[in-house]
Amino acid sequence: ANTTTDTGMDMEEAIEAAMAHVNPDNIKRYLSNFTLENHIAGSDGLLRLSKWSAATMQGFGGFSSVKQYSYDVLLNYPCSDRQSTVQLVAGAALTPFLQLDLSEKSYDAVSDDLPPFVAYSPSAVAVGLPVYVNYGRVEDFAELATLGGNATGCICLARYGKIFRGDKVKAGTAAGCAGMLIFSDPADYARDRTKTYPSGPWLPADGAQRGSIFLESGDPLTPGMPALDGLFKYPMGDPHVSLPSIPVQPISYTNAEILMRKMGGPLAPAAWIGGLSVPEYRVGPGFAAASSADQGVSDDKIRLDVCSEMAVRNIYNTIAVIRGSEEPDRIVVAGNHQDAWGNRAIDPSTGSACMMELARSLSELLEMGWRPRRTIWLAYWDAEEYGLIGSTEFTDQFRGHMASRVVAYMNLDVAVAGTDVFDAAATPNLSDLIFRSAKRVMQPTLDDTASQESVYDVWARVAAANHNNNGDEPQVWPLGSGSDFTSFLSHHGVPSFDIQFTYADPTLSSYPVYHAQSDTFEYVANVLDPGFQFHAAITKIWIGALVELASVPAIAFNCSRYAIEIKQHLFEVVAAATAAGIPVDASHVTPSTSKFVLAAQLFDHKLAALPATVKPLVLRDYNDRLMMLERLFLIEEGLPGRAFFRHMIYAPAAHDSYAGSMFPGLTDAIYEKNVQEFSRQLSFVTIALSQIVDLLSEP
Ligand code: GLU
Ligand code: ZN
Ligand code: ZN
Repeated sequence: ANTTTDTGMDMEEAIEAAMAHVNPDNIKRYLSNFTLENHIAGSDGLLRLSKWSAATMQGFGGFSSVKQYSYDVLLNYPCSDRQSTVQLVAGAALTPFLQLDLSEKSYDAVSDDLPPFVAYSPSAVAVGLPVYVNYGRVEDFAELATLGGNATGCICLARYGKIFRGDKVKAGTAAGCAGMLIFSDPADYARDRTKTYPSGPWLPADGAQRGSIFLESGDPLTPGMPALDGLFKYPMGDPHVSLPSIPVQPISYTNAEILMRKMGGPLAPAAWIGGLSVPEYRVGPGFAAASSADQGVSDDKIRLDVCSEMAVRNIYNTIAVIRGSEEPDRIVVAGNHQDAWGNRAIDPSTGSACMMELARSLSELLEMGWRPRRTIWLAYWDAEEYGLIGSTEFTDQFRGHMASRVVAYMNLDVAVAGTDVFDAAATPNLSDLIFRSAKRVMQPTLDDTASQESVYDVWARVAAANHNNNGDEPQVWPLGSGSDFTSFLSHHGVPSFDIQFTYADPTLSSYPVYHAQSDTFEYVANVLDPGFQFHAAITKIWIGALVELASVPAIAFNCSRYAIEIKQHLFEVVAAATAAGIPVDASHVTPSTSKFVLAAQLFDHKLAALPATVKPLVLRDYNDRLMMLERLFLIEEGLPGRAFFRHMIYAPAAHDSYAGSMFPGLTDAIYEKNVQEFSRQLSFVTIALSQIVDLLSEP
């Protein structure tokens, strides 16, 4: 039953054959192609790139179709005729006496990259005293209050890291900031300032992190609807369009130093002190008074003038299809975004280059006569950087497919953020598939010496050293948001994973040149992964998972893992609720988690024991139940206050979209001490679990 069509190869042989085609030199060449010009969403450069990539995949042969899907969405750019400014101003007349240089050097031969900006900042002026707010988290603003500080009416100076930048702006807006400057602190992005790019891996002194501060997913003007040309759109300013309200500008650590050196007010607590070369970190509000004998603050202010333009532009997803031989109506999707903040390489073009090599290797396998049992979609997404827009519009358009035909979604974004260790976030039913795929591939080495350990071995070892292990196994993280798996999992209930190679240091929030001009092809080729071996390894892991899930007769999901994970976490959530003084009636839900574990284990056994001669409709019934399981976790109305997020087990954390939170409806209710909502959300869980137990227990 494991034999794939025509070739006589079994699944493992097909995977080996596909992996053998993966060639690091091709990936390098593709990366160079993907980074030749500015490929920001809505640009001509990206349109050319997407046409080139579609034609290239078509040229490989074997694909049933390669199609582009275009949407008409709201994007945002710095003004073309005027630059945003940050000035220090004095007196009632607000007389400027210093202006920051907000420009960032380009490393590209030809560059029409935009200056540093955050997407969807309103075009607005804000004037206020400076105040330092650490990482700009809800807890940082709370701590600011205990220090006697108050952000109201201030220009808040937040450092990048720890959480999604959009959540910093949200917390800052709630705390009353009139505007926000977000800087990259050397402690987080340039730990060795003698080794900044091109002399080393760290962020250069003028480097600034671009990025979206939009908190929702998809086109801001068409929530819940695909932004197809000519169809309905809310007008700008409509209450359904939830864009940020305060002006925000990203700045370099050189600029942050200028501001922080002048800052007055109380000394910052130890945990707020970063690596700026200033004598001390002070919180303000306000700059220090001119005379050092005077402990007071001056009334000098920051004037932040952000000039940005909203623009409705076309974006283009590309979907390459390999039609399944036996179950063409069951689809496994692998995807990566194509748009970047300019000519950028690591994010996402390392992933785009790997996907091109994955496509080429699969086409070689097709040439050998292999066909997947199920349909494969390879998806290049557009406008991910603006708010996961391309993938969200596509899943909005094909919601029927999402509800009943898509088996799983496998995301790659930044393929190689670092070269220490593999890492994965996924729904628990995919952990085993990821483990098997990581065991098939040897861990590359930067000096090209032969490795004695598999990718999995190194992953497990590093995870144990960082205490991210479950016994012998590495922790697979819960999915939050921050890349294109979000609408698949959180809105449509499609089992998903996200994988990458990364650094082992858990104190780094991202790789140093994230969303900065220094993220270039040369950075990857000279500093990060010169042999492209880590790129090749992750491509092989991705291929293994994709070919396996598209080929095996019984879908390679492990539902016992889901059940065990849920049982354990629900136990913890119930304990947390009780500790928070919320009366919990767990008499229905607790037994159903135990029943889920038993039913899932029995189901997994029955599935593994299905004979090769099993009737196709019997097999289909088992597989459909595995698919339905995830959809039963959807709450139709969405989570309270977050209608888009419908998955009751996984959602982005309420104050950090990047992080995954488990049982979000329950944990949010605990946080808000909302007894009624907790009980309501617990009932959703109980209802889902009892349906799942029945479903799995059918003969
Ligand atoms: N990956 C992008 C970022 O981190 C977009 C994330 C999002 O909009 O959710 O900036
Ligand atoms: Zn990305
Ligand atoms: Zn990005």
